[in-house]
Amino acid sequence: MFGERFRRARSASGLSMKELGDSVGVSANMIKKYEHGESMPSSPVLIRLAKTLGVKSEYFFRPNTIVLGEIQYRKRASLPKKTLHKIEAEVVDQAERWMELKNLWPNFPIDSPNLDLPVNTLHTYEDVEMYANSIREKWGLGSQGITDLTALLEEHGYIVIMISYASEGMCDGLQAVIEDMPIIVCQSNGDGTRQRFTMAHELAHHLLSSSLDSNLDEELCCHRFAGSFLLPLDSLKREIGEKRHSLEIAELYHLKQRYGISMQACIRRAFDTEIISQTEYTNVCKLFSSRGWRKQEPGEPYRCEQSSLFTRLVYRALGEHIIGESKAAELLGKNLMEFHADRFMGKE
Ligand SMILES: [Zn+2]
Repeated sequence: MFGERFRRARSASGLSMKELGDSVGVSANMIKKYEHGESMPSSPVLIRLAKTLGVKSEYFFRPNTIVLGEIQYRKRASLPKKTLHKIEAEVVDQAERWMELKNLWPNFPIDSPNLDLPVNTLHTYEDVEMYANSIREKWGLGSQGITDLTALLEEHGYIVIMISYASEGMCDGLQAVIEDMPIIVCQSNGDGTRQRFTMAHELAHHLLSSSLDSNLDEELCCHRFAGSFLLPLDSLKREIGEKRHSLEIAELYHLKQRYGISMQACIRRAFDTEIISQTEYTNVCKLFSSRGWRKQEPGEPYRCEQSSLFTRLVYRALGEHIIGESKAAELLGKNLMEFHADRFMGKE
C-alpha cells in the first residue's frame, strides 16, 4: 500500500526518482525499492519525502479506496503524459477523501443524481440544443444566466473536483463515476468562463454519451450542449436579436459578464444558431486571433467559481460527532493548528 501511494505522489510531483532521491538524500535505486515495496523509508526520510512531495506523511498510509482504473475518463491526446499523471493523482487524492467521508456517514446526506437521460437518440445538433433546454427546464432555471454552476451541479448530485494543474490553453476537464457518484473535474484557476464551460461540457458527456447518433461528433455535441445550457437560444435572441450582420465586441463582453460564458463561445453560439453568417463568424474569429484575444479575452476576466461542499460536509460530520477533530483536519488536508484556526474562525 505504501509503495503505490508513494509512487502516485512522486508521479504527481513530476520529480524523477533521481531528483527525489537527491533532495532527500537517498539513491534513485532506493526510491525504486520504496515504490516496489521492497524497502521502507526510515521516519526521518519519510518526513523529508512528504515535505518534498508536498503531502502529509499520513497520506502514504491512508487506506486505498480508489483504483485508478475506476476513473474512466477520456484520455486527452493533447496532454503531455506528465500533466496527465499530475491530474490523475490530484483527482484520485480528492476522490479518495470524498469516498472516505462518504463511508464515514451512516447515511450520506448527498443523493446520487436523478438522471434525466435523453428519452430518444439525439440525431442532430439541434436535438442536443433542445435536450439542454429540457434539462434547464427540469432544473427550474428559467431563462436567466446560471450564477453558480458549481452549486447547481452539486445540488443535483454531482461532485465537482477542482484542480489547479490545468494550464493555460487546456480547456479540458474530465468526468468519472466512482461508486455511483458522478464526478466532474475542472480547473480551479484561470478565467471563470472557461471553468464553467468545462463543467457544462463534462456534464454533457455524462448525460449524452450513450444517446448520440453515430453520425454526430461527441465533442461538438458537448460543446453545443454547454453553450445552450449556459446561454439558451431564447435568451441569446432576446439579447442580440434574430439576425445580425455584425457583432460589437463590447456587446459580447456584456453578454459574457451576464451569462458567464466566454465572448468566443457567444460568437460560436451566434454562428451555430444562424444569427450571424459564416463570413461574419470568420471575421470575428480573425479579429480575436489578430488581437491575441483567443488566449485572453479583452476586459475583466470572469470570476472563478469555488466548491465548498466537501468542507461543509466535513464540518457537518464534526458537528454531528460522526468524526473527530483529527479526522476532520486530515480530510481537509490541514494540520491541527491550521484546522483550529479555521474551525474557530481564527479566534482561539
Ligand atoms: Zn469533451
